[in-house]
Amino acid sequence: LVPRLRPFTSTIFAEMTALAVRTDAINLGQGFPDTDGPAGMLHAAREALFGGANQYPPGPGRPELRAAVAAHRARYGTHYDPESEVLVTAGATEAIAASLLALTQPGDEVLVIEPYYDSYAASVAMAGAERRVVPLISEGGRFALDTEALRAAVTARTRAILVNSPHNPTGTVFTRDELAAIARVCVDNDLIAITDEVYEHLVFDGGEHIPLATLPGMASRTVSISSAGKSFNCTGWKIGWVCATPELVAAVKAAKQFLTFVSGGPLQPAVAYALEHELDWVERLRLSLQHKRDRLSEGLRAAGFEVWPSAGTYFVCADVRPLGFSDAAELAWRLPETIGVAAVPVSVFTDNPDQWRHVLRFAFCKRDDVLDEAINRLHKLI
Ligand code: PMP
Ligand code: GLN
Repeated sequence: LVPRLRPFTSTIFAEMTALAVRTDAINLGQGFPDTDGPAGMLHAAREALFGGANQYPPGPGRPELRAAVAAHRARYGTHYDPESEVLVTAGATEAIAASLLALTQPGDEVLVIEPYYDSYAASVAMAGAERRVVPLISEGGRFALDTEALRAAVTARTRAILVNSPHNPTGTVFTRDELAAIARVCVDNDLIAITDEVYEHLVFDGGEHIPLATLPGMASRTVSISSAGKSFNCTGWKIGWVCATPELVAAVKAAKQFLTFVSGGPLQPAVAYALEHELDWVERLRLSLQHKRDRLSEGLRAAGFEVWPSAGTYFVCADVRPLGFSDAAELAWRLPETIGVAAVPVSVFTDNPDQWRHVLRFAFCKRDDVLDEAINRLHKLI
């Protein structure tokens, strides 16, 4: 394995899920739901499968999906031409990798907000670029953007910034002020923003998802990325998309076409159907996840953890120190065996593990009975 990829031989999700399976533990580590997506979408996939949609779809994606993505983004007031400004990808993961491969090169720096989703560091490395992390800070009961640190991290070599809101793993949803600070840094320094909006529908308590591309000066320099997995409970389908200017989409497509060319042929019309007809289902999902967030957060507090409020996503973060532990990673590797619950240490998503050593991430996208059983088991830690 070449040196630049040596830090990335396995993922925390693969390892923790394997441990959970081996120990028969409840898996609150890897974020995936344990119920299916909307029936209409599943029927549409079956119809496509038996209706002959089983050969290569067009390179940029099936036209009905590109049209549905553009119509969906129009809800935010952003208008993309389905022909030239939308590209279907193999999940958000490929969209992020292809964007970095197409838009950054050796010598470039990419700003990454820490803690970061694990694929970002690997994809920046595959592009041969360098990451520079900007840590979130625990402030006013939430993890907030350190706008001073953001400005200070920019150098003459900075080319792009990766922005994930709603944010995995902290559950932070960036405020308009935080996004405005990011936009200002991008405009002032001529940076490209690559946004990961896979949790765009999973914002709680009446909060709002604000795409960075809607801020002044950002439409022309933002590659907006999302995917179907989290909105429609189909994380295994890996249907994602990119929306950007024709120039940026053409660049990302140049990389994407030699990674996978195309993928998910019969699933693309089903996701188009879901974007057009299942947003009421998504709203019910959002409300149900908000209840699950409360259920797990209260359970974790009752079990002795200190819990940061989560404003969105599948995840809640907890401080293990009130229980007498100092090292959340060490605890996470023991928990499946000792009490039958898997969680993920947040330090693995950082370049500064010492600063995040006490934080564990739990996924609440599970059935209520599963969450309740996990909480029962976690009480054994007291
Ligand atoms: N970004 C974030 C923040 C995620 O949590 C995930 C994982 N679900 C992805 C990207 C990957 O998305 P996809 O499965 O569509 O590739
Ligand atoms: N996005 C999911 C999480 O953060 C897992 C994705 C994966 O397994 N790579 O838990």
